[in-house]
Amino acid sequence: MADYKAPLRDMRFVLNEVFEVSKLWAELPALAEVVDADTASAILEEAGKVTAGSIAPLNRSGDEEGCSWDNGAVKTPAGFPEAYQTYAEGGWVGVGGSPEFGGMGMPKVIGAQVEEMVNSANLSFGLYPMLTAGACLSILNHASEELKAQYLPNMYAGVWAGSMCLTEPHAGTDLGIIRTKAEPQADGSYRISGTKIFITGGEHDLTENIIHLVLAKLPDAPAGPKGISLFIVPKVMVNADGSLGEKNALGCGSIEHKMGIKASATCVMNFDGATGYLVGEVNKGLNAMFTMMNYERLGVGIQGLALGERSYQSAIEYARERIQSRAPTGPVAKDKAADPIIVHPDVRRMLLTMKALNEGGRAFSSYVAMQLDTAKYSEDKEIAKRADELVALLTPVAKAFLTDMALETTVHGQQIFGGHGFIREWGQEQLVRDCRITQIYEGTNGIQSLDLMGRKIVGSGGSFYKHLADEIKGFIAAADANLDEFTKPLAAAVQNLDELTAWVLDRAKNNPNEIGAASVEYLQVFGYTAYAYMWALMARAALGKEAQDEFYASKLGTARFYFARLLPRIHSLSASVKAGSESLYLLDAAQF
Ligand SMILES: Cc1cc2nc3c(=O)[nH]c(=O)nc-3n(C[C@H](O)[C@H](O)[C@H](O)COP(=O)(O)OP(=O)(O)OC[C@H]3O[C@@H](n4cnc5c(N)ncnc54)[C@H](O)[C@@H]3O)c2cc1C
Repeated sequence: MADYKAPLRDMRFVLNEVFEVSKLWAELPALAEVVDADTASAILEEAGKVTAGSIAPLNRSGDEEGCSWDNGAVKTPAGFPEAYQTYAEGGWVGVGGSPEFGGMGMPKVIGAQVEEMVNSANLSFGLYPMLTAGACLSILNHASEELKAQYLPNMYAGVWAGSMCLTEPHAGTDLGIIRTKAEPQADGSYRISGTKIFITGGEHDLTENIIHLVLAKLPDAPAGPKGISLFIVPKVMVNADGSLGEKNALGCGSIEHKMGIKASATCVMNFDGATGYLVGEVNKGLNAMFTMMNYERLGVGIQGLALGERSYQSAIEYARERIQSRAPTGPVAKDKAADPIIVHPDVRRMLLTMKALNEGGRAFSSYVAMQLDTAKYSEDKEIAKRADELVALLTPVAKAFLTDMALETTVHGQQIFGGHGFIREWGQEQLVRDCRITQIYEGTNGIQSLDLMGRKIVGSGGSFYKHLADEIKGFIAAADANLDEFTKPLAAAVQNLDELTAWVLDRAKNNPNEIGAASVEYLQVFGYTAYAYMWALMARAALGKEAQDEFYASKLGTARFYFARLLPRIHSLSASVKAGSESLYLLDAAQF
């Protein structure tokens, strides 16, 4: 596999030339204090070095060795503890953390690029800091001041890790039916009892303590999602002075053997009357989790993008070197026995699909990250509210569309290698295996689609969608005529999405099955349209500079490919949506 090189040029292009992100930072006082274009550039440069130098080399060996379990202890693959220490000492775990508790305070749009790099380098590795950062976010937003002071500094510093314990054997998507119990104690703490499964980083040897965030129910809690509370449950108790005390009553019963991300420990966690501390209010645990989920879900989308990028980097190198057959228009490499496979139309189709989806995904995830930053830091309530609603709308799209596109991308990367993509040696098959989980965890992509369609589109009566549609229409109206080749198909795509949205809103009034029947394809139409907006923005930033620098020529060529070859997918998807739910219910359960 080609050595990983962080795509810094493209990241800088997206941040500085497409979105002019330093203008946003200057408008948000909390960010203006901590970041400007130079700081951001230096951070990205450094992250590129540490991820490529210390973490990427462990990707293959981590996959081969996997994690191991012995009597409750979990060992990560060779090199992981040392690399984690390097990563933690660089402050990367707390890159987006609150400076009040020792975090770097960087905006999400910078954190998003760092996440892409670490996950391209090694997705299994990247999950450990990601889960820690997610747990920190819930603690920061919902826990008492005392708990924040007790836990956050060591978590941001990477001295302690975090985990998110939601799933139970009988309760995955439907968390309303969890059974883990939380019994109040006289001292204000709770006794937590129950079994959680599939817990990423539930146990490992990277840190001296692991802070579990656990969803559980009080004895008198109402049934369903409104009866769930959130607790901090440390692996090792923390004394009042911050030192470590006794081991808490919990343990790792086993680890899963999986298709991919083999170096990420996926644990069964048993809580046997463990001591826990309430985070936020009783019965409001799911709300507290949702704060974190918007960040995590974007993060999972970025994991997909990261794998697609890694796959592309290898595929392009291979396609330039591997020689097979002659170009249809006649020999190109006349001194060789055959031409490099990059001459063939189908190989170009796959490479350009990968490039267009990766770069579109990078721009889109950065755009969503900027909305997260605006929602969090804007002092103008109207602006913050609009950004918050855009985040709500776009988060399920970012999670599901980026990861669905990543599977397509990594499979193309594998295909470009022919049989060499199927064997282990070149690393492409690992990327395909690792990619599959991104479509499943953190809410399956089917559930993300339902969230978009049911809660965000129908639930807001179309008002969240209108923010985005109005923004795109404003961009088109203001664009110069030399952008027509991009803005005209973009305008048609938005009109199609407007009509589709109105169609589903209307049909959903009479038949509850219509939402679920439309949702997956609707999300994809939404995703391709959103990427078309990103590609038009990128084309605007590149146009006129193509003669000076081939980076811009490549950008424009890829934009043209996106509009010509990928955006038209919306037509068949829209036709599927409009076929409605009837054909899904022609068979009864026995007829399948
Ligand atoms: C490697 C790995 C790591 C994980 N890490 C964590 C972690 O750190 N913490 C944690 O708490 N969990 C974790 N999970 C759990 C993960 O989030 C769940 O597996 C996921 O949310 C799906 O739940 P489930 O597996 O129970 O599937 P189910 O909920 O049983 O779903 C089965 C199928 O039915 C569909 N479905 C369910 N309900 C509906 C509906 N209403 N409408 C339409 N379709 C529906 C789903 O989309 C899916 O296709 C992890 C899982 C894995 C495999």
